[in-house]
Amino acid sequence: MKKQAYILALMVLSTFVSLTPPAKTLDMYWIDVEGGAATLIVAPSGESILIDSGNPGGRDSERIYTVASEVAGLKKIDHLITTHFHIDHFGGAGELAKRIPIVNIHDKGIPENLSEDVNFAKNIQPYRDIKAKRYTIKPDYELSLKAMPRGTAPLSLHCLGINQQFVATRKDADTNGDCGETTDKPVDTSDNANSSVFMINFGTFTLFNGGDLTWNTEKKLVCPVNLPGEVDVYQVNHHGLDQSNNPVLIQSLSPTVAIINNGTKKGCGPETFTSLRKTPSIQAIYQVHKNLREDGTTINTAPEKIANMEENCKANYIKLSVTPDGQQYTVSIPANSYKQVYQSKK
Ligand SMILES: [Zn+2]
Repeated sequence: MKKQAYILALMVLSTFVSLTPPAKTLDMYWIDVEGGAATLIVAPSGESILIDSGNPGGRDSERIYTVASEVAGLKKIDHLITTHFHIDHFGGAGELAKRIPIVNIHDKGIPENLSEDVNFAKNIQPYRDIKAKRYTIKPDYELSLKAMPRGTAPLSLHCLGINQQFVATRKDADTNGDCGETTDKPVDTSDNANSSVFMINFGTFTLFNGGDLTWNTEKKLVCPVNLPGEVDVYQVNHHGLDQSNNPVLIQSLSPTVAIINNGTKKGCGPETFTSLRKTPSIQAIYQVHKNLREDGTTINTAPEKIANMEENCKANYIKLSVTPDGQQYTVSIPANSYKQVYQSKK
């Protein structure tokens, strides 16, 4: 082929390729907010959902802003879901809203006060001040999302429970066989027990996000009926603290992958870790931080599955990317180039 003809053929080919853009993935980021929570979801439509917003003080809002704008290329956060009213979950929102617009806010309604937070009225003020459309989450609440582009699986964020109230069970629902040998822990009167529980479904892919739900409420979610059913990915409740992560919940979810948004000295508890390791379905556990406690209860996953190894870390994030058909997903830590592919359950 003559050189000009070859160049022409290349031009025609590249035009054709650029006219048929590849279908987009569903991307999620566990942003490092040092033992708080901030899970960013970017839909194939470009719509974005942030579940929790870390702590106040500038650090966490800066980190969320950086991942949202520089990594995910976002110009706004379409939806902010606040799972409950503890400062490590709502604290960064006010500052974040000054850097990038937050369009819609979904929560259970701001309480007047909170017994475990004497400074609640002051702490919540920046969150109250955000100019966004507000929505109240109830059991069975579903986020209203834009239609997905052609060629991608349907996406939904559905609330199974909040304020210790759950969706109704189907009349024909089977009783969960794992409920026999369960124990209770002291009643949790904090707002953790009131956390919202969201199921994120993308085709056959399913992720569980239960905020800081605690032991006895976790049991109510799966006993006598397993409301969530089996999932692919479990965002480990409450940073992996042992007040949460009732083994009956983990067994009932039967996840393939567990992701812990722990801090260097918060979460990633020994009881939780043992329960995760004992769950046969779990192929991998990921941590936002290496557990650096020196109390003899320190357990860690394999080093390549930890985003941040040092106390003074670079705030590396964990990324999860689901193929447009929802059938396969990759969990990666871009900072250390580790990645692993998993198949979604059917
Ligand atoms: Zn928390």
